[in-house]
Amino acid sequence: MDCLFCKIIAGEIPSAKVYEDEEVYAFKDISPVAPVHILIVPKKHYASVMEVDDPSIIGHIFEVIQKLAKEFDVCEDGFRIVNNCGDNGCQSVKHVHFHLVGGRQLEAKMG
Ligand code: 5GP
Ligand code: ZN
Repeated sequence: MDCLFCKIIAGEIPSAKVYEDEEVYAFKDISPVAPVHILIVPKKHYASVMEVDDPSIIGHIFEVIQKLAKEFDVCEDGFRIVNNCGDNGCQSVKHVHFHLVGGRQLEAKMG
């Protein structure tokens, strides 16, 4: 499959990995918008959240997000979780992923 994040998960393209287990992979965004900017992805390829057929993977991803938020010390000050879906949502990589963004005061405006 010609998917950038599948290649990153497979180790064919290097990444700054911060977490991995059997189902989930997390790595630093190559173009961070804040001091902490991590992408959390399921290892199984789903093009977007609309394709996810196993809700337990989403729960597991949020467990990983909690763990990473503690590890990267953004719990107290807060952070943002973002999922972009489809063209209007400006999803650029068609492998479902969640952004964990923090480490500075973020803009209130969404959209
Ligand atoms: P999207 O716009 O699809 O929600 O987010 C895709 C994210 O992937 C962007 O924040 C972008 O910077 C990041 N990204 C794109 N290519 C690479 C790459 O090769 N390596 C890493 N680590 N991040 C990437
Ligand atoms: Zn993929």
